[in-house]
Amino acid sequence: MTAPAARQAVVTGGTRGIGLAVADRLAAEGWSVLTLARRPVAAHPHRFTACDVTDPAAVRAALGPLDRVDALVTCAGLAGANRLEGDDALWHAIIDTNLHGTYHACKAVLPKLPDGTGRIVTIASVLGLRGVADQTAYCAAKHGVIGFTRALALAAAPRGITVNALCPGWVETAMAHQRYAELGITPAEAASTVPTGHVATPEDVADAVVWLLRPGSRGITGHALPIDGGTLALP
Ligand code: NDP
Repeated sequence: MTAPAARQAVVTGGTRGIGLAVADRLAAEGWSVLTLARRPVAAHPHRFTACDVTDPAAVRAALGPLDRVDALVTCAGLAGANRLEGDDALWHAIIDTNLHGTYHACKAVLPKLPDGTGRIVTIASVLGLRGVADQTAYCAAKHGVIGFTRALALAAAPRGITVNALCPGWVETAMAHQRYAELGITPAEAASTVPTGHVATPEDVADAVVWLLRPGSRGITGHALPIDGGTLALP
């Protein structure tokens, strides 16, 4: 008897941070994982295709060889402080990467997802659920990702495909360190703003992804789930 084929996952932004932790976790659970990012990294443990998610043709080309995708996890993201006085180019880059990149990946994968079991998890942010003064583009993009996720969940529901957003607060990655530097705070000071007193790890987010990909999670769709140590529960 031949073994069943491994389930196929695509992880955008799968070369570092949250995306790498998701790819590691899925591979450990027996999934076949294709990671997408703009640049290869040395000793990357997963199948990799160079792809800028802001370019729809590049996304289609990267996914073209796959006949079937069981799960898509969109982790590719870009953050950066920008106020309205700031640089228009940064605004467009942040919206393009987080919102349009999510859209391009979902659009390319949707026809390849199996009815009944297909899964999409988008990585949004707590800043998709609240505002921060110097994060205008990032907040706009992540609010957009959540709105898109909810709409896509309804569009895909008749096919039995679930679509959910995870909304991390601080997660210990290069992106968080960039933000600590912008704010002039230490990781310990960031952790002190979280009710549970600690910053999430990329593996914490990967755990939530795996839970949403389980067969038993088929009734969970259209949600935006914070992983924020209680931050959004604060008054
Ligand atoms: P990192 O900066 O550590 O990793 C980002 C990943 O996305 C890299 O693999 C990067 O590779 C890839 N990427 C960036 N731009 C593109 C692009 N245009 N096309 C393809 N790949 C791209 O970020 P995190 O792991 O911290 O963040 C992952 C997601 O989680 C993001 O959407 C982020 O907004 C979100 N998030 C993160 C939080 C945090 O505190 N870290 C909190 C809340 C949400 P390359 O540069 O080679 O393309």
